[in-house]
Amino acid sequence: MEKFDVIIIGTGPAGLGAAFHLINENKNLKILMLDKEKVSTGGLRNDCKMNFTFPIGFPFENWSKEQAESYLEKVTNKLKPEIFDKKNLSTYFKRAEKLGVELINIKQSHLGTDGGLKLIKKLIAELEELGVEIKLGTEMTDIDAKSKTISTNNGTFAYQKLLIAPGRKGFSFLQTIMDKIGIHYIDHIVDIGIRIETRLENYPIVSDYYDPKFLFPDKVRTFCTNSGAAYVVREKYTTSAGKPYFSVNGHAFSGTKPPNGLVNFAMLKTVKFTHPLASGQEFAENLGLQAMLMGGGKPIMQRVGDFRLGKRSKLESFNDDLYNFKPTQTNCTPGDISLSMPAKILRGIWKSMKSLDTIIPGVLHPGTIMYYPEIKLYANKPEYLDNNFKAAENIYFAGDGAGTSRGITAAWASGIRAAEGILK
Ligand SMILES: Cc1cc2nc3c(=O)[nH]c(=O)nc-3n(C[C@H](O)[C@H](O)[C@H](O)COP(=O)(O)OP(=O)(O)OC[C@H]3O[C@@H](n4cnc5c(N)ncnc54)[C@H](O)[C@@H]3O)c2cc1C
Repeated sequence: MEKFDVIIIGTGPAGLGAAFHLINENKNLKILMLDKEKVSTGGLRNDCKMNFTFPIGFPFENWSKEQAESYLEKVTNKLKPEIFDKKNLSTYFKRAEKLGVELINIKQSHLGTDGGLKLIKKLIAELEELGVEIKLGTEMTDIDAKSKTISTNNGTFAYQKLLIAPGRKGFSFLQTIMDKIGIHYIDHIVDIGIRIETRLENYPIVSDYYDPKFLFPDKVRTFCTNSGAAYVVREKYTTSAGKPYFSVNGHAFSGTKPPNGLVNFAMLKTVKFTHPLASGQEFAENLGLQAMLMGGGKPIMQRVGDFRLGKRSKLESFNDDLYNFKPTQTNCTPGDISLSMPAKILRGIWKSMKSLDTIIPGVLHPGTIMYYPEIKLYANKPEYLDNNFKAAENIYFAGDGAGTSRGITAAWASGIRAAEGILK
């Protein structure tokens, strides 16, 4: 059986951040990186907009401002982002403030889905050049912490130190591993929301600020805005009981594709549970399945005009003169979001959308589409043994799946932090 000083599970930003830090600090380390996919599946691959300002992406439980900023400097030094200029924002700031809404001014770069793929390939090649062994299409399936070995579909490997960074899609996998090793965790927070798609002219702020971050009262925020050649996509998830459901998401190309005149972004509400409902994951899965039930196995889409009138959308809703653009995600069922979404979440989101429409008049045009559900599971909160995300003897976690980040740059930073622990 092959033995490694460090095995890293996941080639997302958390895994990459850790691998670069480890190999740069000690060229002699024998490192193996595994990914079950042929190419990393997270946000580096999808749209790849990167945020370089605290608190975007950094959960408060794990990061202070000073700490995040010092790691962001390291991430910046490695990724050398081209930060966008922001213009003409003073009116939006003033309007937001009057409504008790915060518009956060952050440093941002954007590579697009095609640019992100290029970056991943470049980073993987760089790591291989530095001597890191990378096995793609290799899924970790089990662990024996006593003998310090992991099982995969491509054989068994031994480690001195193990870093598991499986991202949001690896949320359940991580829970299985934690249950097996006896790592205590809670999973009581989840983000639920909708994705808005509208014409560029209804949300012109994006010409001045690529991914504007609005924080509304009631724990609602805008998230992951895409424009240019922008598309809404479906992501397939499987519940712990093996049932499939979809969450929508969005991305854009870097400029290699012609702009389609559309913008999409998420409106997410953070929901936090207390006893007796502990699992955010189970709650989210139930909502995902409920949406599948209402949408006949697909996500639901509804025009704002219909929603306002309390009517479901139908196929014909998408031909009317007010409905003046075609959805970029047609693999959805026209329907009624309010039949599927819990009232408290819907109220919070709708109220925030009305505020947004006051700040940027036009976003609630009758033709605007709301897609549901958009679900973000990144709230596994393991009980860490130290400040470097050590979860058990010789085992570290990092990235979104382990609750240490909620975005590319923070995931990269968490990978560095775990790598520092591994080196100690
Ligand atoms: C469609 C989409 C668009 C996004 N857009 C952005 C954006 O523009 N900006 C931003 O900051 N964030 C974005 N995000 C969020 C971003 O993807 C995450 O914050 C970030 O990728 C988390 O990094 P990570 O390394 O923790 O996980 P990931 O990037 O998800 O990487 C985890 C990797 O682990 C692999 N893996 C999982 N389980 C196993 C296993 N058992 N064995 C082997 N390999 C495994 C997965 O295949 C995956 O490649 C987006 C997310 C999605 C899904």
